[in-house]
Amino acid sequence: QSLADDMDTDAATMPLPQSDERRWSDTSAYAPKKTLQSWIQLPNGNWELGKILSTSGEESVLSLAEGKVIKVMTETLVPANPDILDGVDDLMQLSYLNEPSVLYNLNYRYNQDMIYTKAGPVLVAVNPFKEVPLYGNRYIEAYRKRSDESPHVYAIADTAIREMIRDEVNQSIIISGESGAGKTETAKIAMQYLAALGGGSGIEYEILKTNPILEAFGNAKTLRNDNSSRFGKLIEIHFSEIGKISGAQVQTCKCKLTITPLHISRVVQCAEGERSYHIFYQLCAGASPALREKLNLTSAHEYKYLRQSNCYSINGVDDAERFHTVKEALDIVHVSKKDQESVFAMLASVLWLGNVSFYVIDNENHVEPVADESLSTVAKLIGCNINDLKLSLSKRNMRVGKDTIVQKLTLPQAIDARDALAKSIYSCLFDWLVEQINKSLAVGKRRTGKCISILDIYGFESFDKNSFEQFCINYANERLQQHFNRHLFKLEQEEYIQDGIDWTRVDFEDNQDCLSLFEKKPLGLLTLLDEESTFPNGTDLTLANKLKQHLLSNSCFRGDRGKLFTVVHYAGEVQCLGLKHKPDVASVLVTAFKSSKPVVGQLFQLMQRLGNTTPHFIRCIKPNNVQSPGLYEQGLVLQQLRCCGVLEVVRISRSGFPTRMSHQKFARRYGFLLVDNVADKDPLSVSVAILHQFNILPEMYQVGYTKLFFRTGQIGVLEDTRNRT
Ligand code: ATP
Ligand code: MG
Repeated sequence: QSLADDMDTDAATMPLPQSDERRWSDTSAYAPKKTLQSWIQLPNGNWELGKILSTSGEESVLSLAEGKVIKVMTETLVPANPDILDGVDDLMQLSYLNEPSVLYNLNYRYNQDMIYTKAGPVLVAVNPFKEVPLYGNRYIEAYRKRSDESPHVYAIADTAIREMIRDEVNQSIIISGESGAGKTETAKIAMQYLAALGGGSGIEYEILKTNPILEAFGNAKTLRNDNSSRFGKLIEIHFSEIGKISGAQVQTCKCKLTITPLHISRVVQCAEGERSYHIFYQLCAGASPALREKLNLTSAHEYKYLRQSNCYSINGVDDAERFHTVKEALDIVHVSKKDQESVFAMLASVLWLGNVSFYVIDNENHVEPVADESLSTVAKLIGCNINDLKLSLSKRNMRVGKDTIVQKLTLPQAIDARDALAKSIYSCLFDWLVEQINKSLAVGKRRTGKCISILDIYGFESFDKNSFEQFCINYANERLQQHFNRHLFKLEQEEYIQDGIDWTRVDFEDNQDCLSLFEKKPLGLLTLLDEESTFPNGTDLTLANKLKQHLLSNSCFRGDRGKLFTVVHYAGEVQCLGLKHKPDVASVLVTAFKSSKPVVGQLFQLMQRLGNTTPHFIRCIKPNNVQSPGLYEQGLVLQQLRCCGVLEVVRISRSGFPTRMSHQKFARRYGFLLVDNVADKDPLSVSVAILHQFNILPEMYQVGYTKLFFRTGQIGVLEDTRNRT
């Protein structure tokens, strides 16, 4: 604590080095004589720390670790921070804020299991890929009492609660990062804290139990993450009417989940080495003999949908045990035993549907399903007549003018019909579950106060082959990124300018171009795709050609060879292989796009809701691609830090006045601490009197037209005094 205080002062009084005023990628020359240590970039791109032995003319001699001595051009050196700043818990405290220093600081902390670091207002969380002793009641208690102030998800959640009470404004905790970076785990940790603090009504226990259910039905093993969420989640935790005094007891009284649609195609199609949704394997492994018999259940290896990816288990995960956890959780959110059995029957029907096969019935290649165990089991499980099922898998109704004609299906069409049925069963099941959970959590009938929302949404994805799923995910992330940018940069600057604060404009990355590529009307990606999906003869190629015809002027779009095109997202380039895989099945795109509308629609709705909250950002970083503890790959981390704007945030926050409060609020909140009577004074005079009484240095604040602006850490003294009084 005292060390951090020292460093704070240190950093504040230390003149900023020249390079600090520039962009972070700028590694321009500095006077190396002033520092003994320096960063040097090795041919593999990694940075290494060196001691400067001598500098003559344009060259410097450095000693690296293990006694290696090298000679380099002085201008390529990047200044390193003094040892005393090793591992500071807020990047803003670093005197030199260049990329290698930030990388080193995170790495230094990571090696000691300090996975959380502040970057000004943003919390950076580096995935430990192992259990770290940072959670549980002892820690929750410490953060609640503020006896532990090191960066933590708990601290963010605590701040959200306090600001909700102080400002009477809804709050949101927005968690972002790539797939596997730790968003879902982080969301659970935040929920844990909010639930513990809002204790009393009993609902907090139910809130936590939603996690195993949603994960079982909505998460799957992918190549990047053994527990990848295939849906986006916004959980709103409502609190009862709350006292005005900071730290007053709040009670969780209601909770609401909003889910963006699941990527349902995984149920019928899944890549080598990945798995379908966890629940299928859990059911096969954990069902009791009685349930097995009822559902005619066999092992996961017997089901085609599960067999195709050749992956049945996950290291360190006991599916049977998880099945019991899910059943318990279902009990807790009041899903009756009878309903649970129906849920399992639906799951089994999906599995059996995958095993339904077809045989050719005429010389036009029309098919009918084979009347075997699979077909009869499906009919029994979904409770329909076997002949009706047969009919729906071998014929379809077509509208021709006013008439309806019955068309027989060929093998690919029949397979599509079968898979469509399986997908729709699963997606109805998932929606139903979310509804049940919401019913169960909406118990508090009391008038509610404010709420805190936690957003955990799938991360940016780029594979060798990218299809519709990635297209939607990346679009969602692009929007979120804008929310982040807008909030932290634009709004920030606008507020300073509006309030007449002296503030030099700062450049920042904007992703409006990419969003326009998607959203522009009438010629944006979304509209064009929508339009193409209505053409029955459209193919990947016609789609790609159409996009190339209209979108090439946008710098975020690139037309590639044939069916390929590339979208340049803030986080990197993604090459899409058309979005329509089977030229003969026009309905693929139509169905896919229909299901995407809610994705797009709900996302806007989410953004709107989040727009009215005070956001708290957590950026999750994945330190390696192999999900392994202790491995910190500089290049990978740097790329994530760059694309999520962490470095920019540090720069802006440090040079600015991140804490602010209206004159009225400030006077109301701290006025009673004044020694002199100010009953008849206006809020501005009261505020100024407070500032004087507490000896807040003039360079630490600015008085705007409507608000007071403070540098980081200034309000702390006032809050402490207030809480002691
Ligand atoms: P996706 O976008 O694919 O859903 P995600 O960002 O939600 O990815 P998580 O599922 O939260 O990623 O994390 C991936 C894995 O990393 C977890 O299963 C867990 O093993 C590990 N992990 C993440 N955060 C922590 C943590 N704080 N402590 C221990 N392990 C963690
Ligand atoms: Mg997740």
